[in-house]
Amino acid sequence: MSWQAVIGLEIHAQLATRSKLFSGASAAYGAEPNTQAAAIDVGLPGTLPVVNDEAVRLAVTLGLAIGARIAPVSVFARKNYFYPDLPKGYQISQYERPVVADGMLAVRLDDDRVIEVRIERAHLEEDAGKSLHDAFSTQTGIDLNRAGVPLLEIVSAPVLHSPAEAVAYLRTMHRLVRWLGICDGNMQEGSFRCDANVSVRRSPQAPLGTRAEIKNVNSFRFVEKAIAYEIERQIRVLESGEAVVQETRLYDAAQDRTRSMRSKESADDYRYFPDPDLPPLAIPPELVASVRASLPELPEARRRRYVEALGLPAQDADQLCADRDTSDYFEAVLAALPGEAKLCANWVLGELAAALNTLGLPIARSPLAPADLALLLRRLREGVISGKQAKDVFAAMIAGEGDADAVIAARGLVQISDEGALLAAIDQVIAAHPAQAAQVRAGQDKVLGFLVGQVMKATGGKANPQRLNALLRTRLDGSGADLPSAS
Ligand code: ADP
Ligand code: MG
Repeated sequence: MSWQAVIGLEIHAQLATRSKLFSGASAAYGAEPNTQAAAIDVGLPGTLPVVNDEAVRLAVTLGLAIGARIAPVSVFARKNYFYPDLPKGYQISQYERPVVADGMLAVRLDDDRVIEVRIERAHLEEDAGKSLHDAFSTQTGIDLNRAGVPLLEIVSAPVLHSPAEAVAYLRTMHRLVRWLGICDGNMQEGSFRCDANVSVRRSPQAPLGTRAEIKNVNSFRFVEKAIAYEIERQIRVLESGEAVVQETRLYDAAQDRTRSMRSKESADDYRYFPDPDLPPLAIPPELVASVRASLPELPEARRRRYVEALGLPAQDADQLCADRDTSDYFEAVLAALPGEAKLCANWVLGELAAALNTLGLPIARSPLAPADLALLLRRLREGVISGKQAKDVFAAMIAGEGDADAVIAARGLVQISDEGALLAAIDQVIAAHPAQAAQVRAGQDKVLGFLVGQVMKATGGKANPQRLNALLRTRLDGSGADLPSAS
């Protein structure tokens, strides 16, 4: 019997705003506990929420990027529950009328298949505080810095059918939110986390099975493993004639298994109702239009353009579009060197990526600006320097020795391509090594390398290798008589 897995993900992306969703307190990560909590974040009576316009703008940005509907009017709702890190006794979220609905994200899988993942909704909500279980030996600390930080909860339809599909979707969404600049995507800090809903059924035509929800898995690898484990577990349960319980489960990475945390509460348990302190959220068409006008070219569209219009290999296009900073850097180099997409891609993905890796710097903080790299590549293309010299110049530029022209001049690196100068050196070498010259003339091609080496030595390694080889060969072919005299 073959089972079909059904997976839907709820992704929580922390929106990259400076202040919180309903208060002016800083939303920055990592401050001393409870130094960034306004009166409303700690649940003091008599305080009122005011919605953060920037958070709304970022939510609209995602909505447009996934082709969703932006609700002209959406509603904030209270989700009521008690927890020590939720002093108000409710979380402000959106329930029946979310700001974003019915989107779609195209996801490319490892085997190049593309699946279209339907996004049911994305809604704005505030985060809760944090319970610090390790801060004190016999007590739990409460840090309310995170309370009220804006989240966008992005809810996929149950349309994913394997751990690999789920992770590919998660990665694609992760790239998108970072690309749009709406979330920093930092998974260690919890800025991007997901709950995975998993069920299995006996065939794709069967009704959906009962699901378990795996909470807060914060790495791509663990999401994949947790889902894989959960699918196996549910199949075992069902095949032994028992039923899957609807519940919340936790993934234990050390043991690579999920375990029950609590039975799943239903929406009714939360007594959702519209927040009386907040008016409905109205989004005027002008806001939607202005966000639409400022949307960047999206990663999949850019990737396709790189392959189809620039003629780059798919693998280069993938790597360049893995994140926006890399892709924007490449764009800027290419803009200065039109028509040289492959050369630019090679250097951005090769030499530059390696140097940044060694320096431990992201490309956004590259010591070389795109224009610097472009100048180096122009000199390479012009034949001023050889490929090998270009790598040396590049290393010197990274070391801070100046731009390409300055390094080339300072090191006297200019390649000798001038025919007269090369011929002079060649004739001297032929005169000094008549035996070897005779051997080459007699057809012993291997000896040519020796003579090339001698000319290189005589020119301090600056001879343009292609020109040198061609000239030397012609000289020794006997057709050298056609060449101008070196003197
Ligand atoms: P809740 O907020 O209570 O978790 P939702 O109805 O909003 O419930 O669903 C949340 C997620 O669960 C969605 O991503 C949805 O795709 C997924 N989901 C719903 N039913 C199933 C199912 N039977 N199997 C797998 N995933 C499911
Ligand atoms: Mg849920």
